[in-house]
Amino acid sequence: MSRGVVAIVGRPNVGKSSIFNRLVAEKNAITDDQSGITRDRLYGKCEWLDQEFSVIDTGGIEIKDVPFMDEIIAQAQLAMDEADVIVFVVDGRVGVTNQDQDVMNILHRTKKPVIVAANKIDAIWVDEEDPVEKLRKEFEPQGIKVYPISAVSGEGLNELLWAVSNLLKEVPQEKIVFEQEFF
Ligand code: GDP
Ligand code: MG
Repeated sequence: MSRGVVAIVGRPNVGKSSIFNRLVAEKNAITDDQSGITRDRLYGKCEWLDQEFSVIDTGGIEIKDVPFMDEIIAQAQLAMDEADVIVFVVDGRVGVTNQDQDVMNILHRTKKPVIVAANKIDAIWVDEEDPVEKLRKEFEPQGIKVYPISAVSGEGLNELLWAVSNLLKEVPQEKIVFEQEFF
């Protein structure tokens, strides 16, 4: 039995919510008003093998009246504060964009484990260089593993979940945020 919190982070449209829906059987939306900030976070519980952990779709965090990039920065910041493991989602077909790089620069500040999910691999057709190989060359020298997945077909999700659960097992139990806070 492992516990903990996994945050899904990334720029819009990479497939965060699709991955969240794949991992979480039931959706729970929690709204929490805090001095001018409305946080519509999506928390859910993922049950996998004999394990259970919480998942946050950080794309559900909306902050009103701030520039778009500030919102993404705030989402990444919350993930770094509240998660035990961070899944950074990129579009596996296009590789790293400038916006992905901005998110990555923020994630570099955390000591928490980060892994990359290269999503939408069902829609890749390899012409010149395999885009997932390119992502591996970019991230693996930084110690960040890349998992090719498809939220649509489900391909690669088991490997991603293995990686997440192994990382969660390394988190000291006293540091775990218990899911009772969320459910
Ligand atoms: P978010 O903005 O990061 O939460 O992204 P969404 O989950 O809303 O997905 C954005 C778009 O990408 C939607 O049209 C999804 O159907 C599509 N999408 C998400 N995952 C995949 C995938 O694995 N393969 C393909 N082909 N499309 C996907
Ligand atoms: Mg979304």
